[in-house]
Amino acid sequence: MNKAESITKDPDGKLNVPDHVIIPFIEGDGTGSDIWKATRTVIDGAVENVYGGKRRIEWKEVDAGGKGYEKTGQWMPRRALDTIRQHMVAIKGPLTTPVGKGIRSLNVTLRQELDLYACVRPVKYVPGVPSPMKHPENINMVIFRENTEDVYAGIEWQAGSPEAEKVADFLRSEMHALLPEGAGIGIKPISAKNTKRLVASAITYAIDNGYPSVTLMHKGNIMKFTEGAFCTWGYEVAKERFGDITVTENDVYRHYNGKPPAGKIVIKDRIADMLFQQILLRPEEFGVIATPNLNGDYISDALAAQVGGLGMAPGANIGDQCAVFEATHGTAPKYAGLDKVNPSSLILSGAMMLDYMGWDQAAQRVRQCLAETVKCGNVTYDLARQIQGSCEVCCSEFANAIVEGICRLEDAR
Ligand code: NAP
Repeated sequence: MNKAESITKDPDGKLNVPDHVIIPFIEGDGTGSDIWKATRTVIDGAVENVYGGKRRIEWKEVDAGGKGYEKTGQWMPRRALDTIRQHMVAIKGPLTTPVGKGIRSLNVTLRQELDLYACVRPVKYVPGVPSPMKHPENINMVIFRENTEDVYAGIEWQAGSPEAEKVADFLRSEMHALLPEGAGIGIKPISAKNTKRLVASAITYAIDNGYPSVTLMHKGNIMKFTEGAFCTWGYEVAKERFGDITVTENDVYRHYNGKPPAGKIVIKDRIADMLFQQILLRPEEFGVIATPNLNGDYISDALAAQVGGLGMAPGANIGDQCAVFEATHGTAPKYAGLDKVNPSSLILSGAMMLDYMGWDQAAQRVRQCLAETVKCGNVTYDLARQIQGSCEVCCSEFANAIVEGICRLEDAR
């Protein structure tokens, strides 16, 4: 096999993935090492079995979080960011947010430094996983959450601070705003540029993956110039860049008798609070959802709960230059090193990564064999405590069972 190489990108954005490819990984803190070992076992097993040795991943460890701090005194060393930038695609376990160390969140740092502007969370039911829904199998959505702005931009001042008072004085005297005395103040920037690139990537995803609609989720009835503008700019980019393949929901009713024309993706919008009702009552009506940062944070976890919780939910942060695939839960420190927790979130994020690399056969095999392992009742403690008659396995046993399934499937071919 040839020497391992980096992924490269053509000027038009097309990825070139060598058969022997270098992929950086951040193991993560707490239970990170357990779930990372399990994930690596499954991904390597799938790639080996599906491509018969023709394709291989050479993993390159990147020190960040606790390991980064131990080795360099920095939680997110510059070298870690440079390595991910160079290799373009990476995978990471959960990272502890250092409390009171002057860093808001390592994940936010990673997203901002690498301009990973879309947080992508597919939400699909794995049969057999306990769910509070009557028909969780009707859920097949992908959330595109804007990652770089909104109230998460970190432009805020503590109540009573000189900065907050200065901003409040300006707002009162120059902008005639009514503000309560001594309020903490946060700013909510939402821009046309960042909205349009997010919505464009959501529509592109819907086209590439056969989703029938893209819903713009917003609270524009109240926050007209931020959330309302998000909605307006979303419709604008759909028309400007995807006018030949999209149709608005209004036009579906106005011109097509309420039935979307074949081959067209419907662009619609929903007020955020109403969408929270509809994903419970009529989830089958939604495919891709594009939304600002805060709404996206809430709805991602709500939808994950509807299909069995964060332990099963994969995710990725994707920009124009780099993509980082990650477990969506935290470090679960009380279980660290016990080989106990559910590695499915990171394994399914690994499958998303294989899809992104164009190694979709291996990705499909990972998803199929993970689902079969759950269906057989071999599950980690979190699911075992909810599934009567199941057999509790540890994190590494769960991974080994998936790989055994992959081998059996290949032998049967
Ligand atoms: P957490 O680590 O997600 O854990 C909360 C609870 O969720 C656990 O006690 C466990 O529930 C369950 N859980 C989490 N991961 C699981 C898994 N893989 N399998 C089964 N159950 C799992 O949340 P946290 O305790 O709030 O946060 C701990 C640290 O993680 C913090 O430093 C936080 O900042 C960080 N964090 C990082 C990320 C990230 O890197 N993306 C995301 C969120 C939080 P039971 O106790 O009921 O078994």
